Amino acid sequence: MTDNISALDQQNISIKRLAQILSCKPGEEREALRLQAQKITFDNLSRAIYFRGLIEISNVCTLDCRYCGIRQSNRSVRRYTLSHDEVLAAAMECVEMGYGSILLQSGERTDDAFIDYVSEIIRAIKTKSRSEKLPDGLAIGLSLGEQSEKSLERLYNAGATRYLLRIETTNPELFARIHPSSQSFENRLSCLRSLRNIGFMTGTGVMIGLPGQTLEMLASDILFFRDEDVDMIGMGPYLIHPDTPLPGAPAMSNEELFRVSLNMIAATRIVCPGVNIAATTALETLHPEGRQTGIAFGANVVMPSHTPLYRSSDYNLYKGKARLSRDNGDTWERFLEDVKSMGRVPSFYAWGDSPHFTARTESHD
Ligand code: SF4
Repeated sequence: MTDNISALDQQNISIKRLAQILSCKPGEEREALRLQAQKITFDNLSRAIYFRGLIEISNVCTLDCRYCGIRQSNRSVRRYTLSHDEVLAAAMECVEMGYGSILLQSGERTDDAFIDYVSEIIRAIKTKSRSEKLPDGLAIGLSLGEQSEKSLERLYNAGATRYLLRIETTNPELFARIHPSSQSFENRLSCLRSLRNIGFMTGTGVMIGLPGQTLEMLASDILFFRDEDVDMIGMGPYLIHPDTPLPGAPAMSNEELFRVSLNMIAATRIVCPGVNIAATTALETLHPEGRQTGIAFGANVVMPSHTPLYRSSDYNLYKGKARLSRDNGDTWERFLEDVKSMGRVPSFYAWGDSPHFTARTESHD
């Protein structure tokens, strides 16, 4: 089995074989999977761990994804939009921490006023975050849902260079089950392709353990990442929010969900060697050592929260969200020590572009 995993052919791997890998239980084959993912990470991305300061700029959303705690129809949510100064202060906190990049995240709003607001913030952060250590300022990533090509171009021209738009599942029937009929898989895909064409470092990802989801569907998701040539991947276990209408029981127990989530990271690393993969907050919410274990299985990015504490609890996509940040007791120091003890190198003042993005953009020069 060990030889099998180290000899996997990323271009010709079948859905059946990938689904088998995703089902690996603790034992010799799973350790071979982890070690192979680690080897590929070291060979393609070095030992560095990059930080993206996560700033949840607004929980106002015009959509109604059926799994999401801040969906428009959830009237119990206290809505907020951070002021320009609040976002700038949070971004400068990330500079002080030594991060090379941030991710501005919000619910989906497509009106011009919102795009104006984000564009102005991007420009201000780019100007203010420049220093000797960060001559081009912070790298700015966005996660603002589906936007028109015109809006995406405006955001890119303002100075954002990365965009994360999760497809959530690549199975069209499952996509239709977890979204209202007004949201289409085709639109999401088309927006993802626009991002790439505009020049963004493009990220996507899926939820793991949705009701009705199979390992074969998750295997297809991994092949989608490869075939759509994406640069960054953020995947997380599906965690239930009680005030949402998604019907059906979760596909897995928590123990199985954690295991499959880690197997997904490792299998994705093998199939997409040069992409950045995040060890997500949802993984840590599911398990206290989730981020560290995600790194051990092939992730190379973490996203500590820098949403102001007084707003963070209002951005609840799911229940019990974990928070890795300097203001959370000794969690931050412990995390850094854990990372170092795993032979990984916390990387400060570095953008940490994915080698996949660098290779595909250089090949077009
Ligand atoms: S997942 Fe995003 S777009 Fe969907 S309801 Fe939640 S915040 Fe809005």
